[in-house]
Amino acid sequence: MSIRKEPQTRWAWVEIDQGALRRNTRAFKNLLGPRQRLCCVVKADAYGHGAPQCAKIMQAAGADMLAVATVAEGVELRRSGISVPVLVLNEPPLAAIDTLLEHQIMPSLYTSEFAMAYGERAVQLGCVGKYHMAIETGMNRIGVHYADVLDFRREIDFHRGIACDGVFTHFATADDINGWDYKLQCTRFDEAVAAMRDAGYECGIVHCDNTPASILDASTHYDMIRAGVGLYGLHPCDATHGAIKLDPVMSVRARVTRTAHPAMGEGVGYGFTYRVPRTRVQICTLPLGYADGLSRTLSNRMEVLYRGVRIRQVGNICMDQCMVAVQQTPVCQIPEAEHGDVMTIVGRDGDSEITMDEMARLRGTINYEVACGFGMRLDKVYV
Ligand SMILES: *Cc1c(COP(=O)(O)O)cnc(C)c1O
Repeated sequence: MSIRKEPQTRWAWVEIDQGALRRNTRAFKNLLGPRQRLCCVVKADAYGHGAPQCAKIMQAAGADMLAVATVAEGVELRRSGISVPVLVLNEPPLAAIDTLLEHQIMPSLYTSEFAMAYGERAVQLGCVGKYHMAIETGMNRIGVHYADVLDFRREIDFHRGIACDGVFTHFATADDINGWDYKLQCTRFDEAVAAMRDAGYECGIVHCDNTPASILDASTHYDMIRAGVGLYGLHPCDATHGAIKLDPVMSVRARVTRTAHPAMGEGVGYGFTYRVPRTRVQICTLPLGYADGLSRTLSNRMEVLYRGVRIRQVGNICMDQCMVAVQQTPVCQIPEAEHGDVMTIVGRDGDSEITMDEMARLRGTINYEVACGFGMRLDKVYV
């Protein structure tokens, strides 16, 4: 395995394929008509891929807006020179208002308290605070209830310090676009938007599609789509696999920090959940663990790639390290590893691949969570 780039101070890292990120961004852009926009969701440090770096690539590849989950994430984008509009996907605390206005980061809003405080401060500063109005249509998470949108707008629209730049909702079941639940959310959203327009309220950019809805249902693209997970080359559900080609962006790799041949019967790791079953088993140590997103629930159940071959992880995964076993079998005669050899935890090596989906299945979670986890402490290299 040839490595183009790796961090100086640690033998475990996340590799980000910039070309794949660029191609995926364009693939979403290609789903759209000329007047429709692409909002790239880069919350949680771009799903663990590194928000400032990813945002730059997305902006260059045609992103019209970026969305984050926290004000701090928005500030990080501005500090790294991002110039496209930035939207926070929920309503922050009132204390965040100065920061929002200073960095021109748009909040989502759904309480009149926030709207009024935001408008008051904007007037004091001699500017106008743009916002997107979140509409609750069925997920029961955030937003103004779909039946209350007119009352809400009547309460806040007189204020000259605020301006509605967009209205949106979020789907709970967009992996099933023929389902009744999805269709009901669509209807409620359509009706809420129509009611506001009929009453003369500015709606700005109308948007609702996350990754699955963007790929599976062109009829709900409206003025903008909000793509997240798909940009990183991960599919949100089985249904999207046949509908768009996406390339995985993140790989996770490590170098062997120690090799040993413990005697038969010796235990490996905390609690000895693995004991060396026979002679001539090589135990290799890799310097990443559950604090790097390699969940401890994977202990003794996952594999890594070494020279394009799957080998077993053995013993309990530690906070910062884990062990794997290289053993010769009659069908597999891979050479023993050496100190410094590269192993692949997620990604391709030769003809073999371990995907985020495989790891998510083993962990009983979704690829989103697996990617976020690896992004938390591992250094990222952009290749
Ligand atoms: C996270 C999020 C998205 C992106 O969802 P994906 O499934 O990753 O595409 C879009 N909109 C909102 C409101 C979100 O919270």
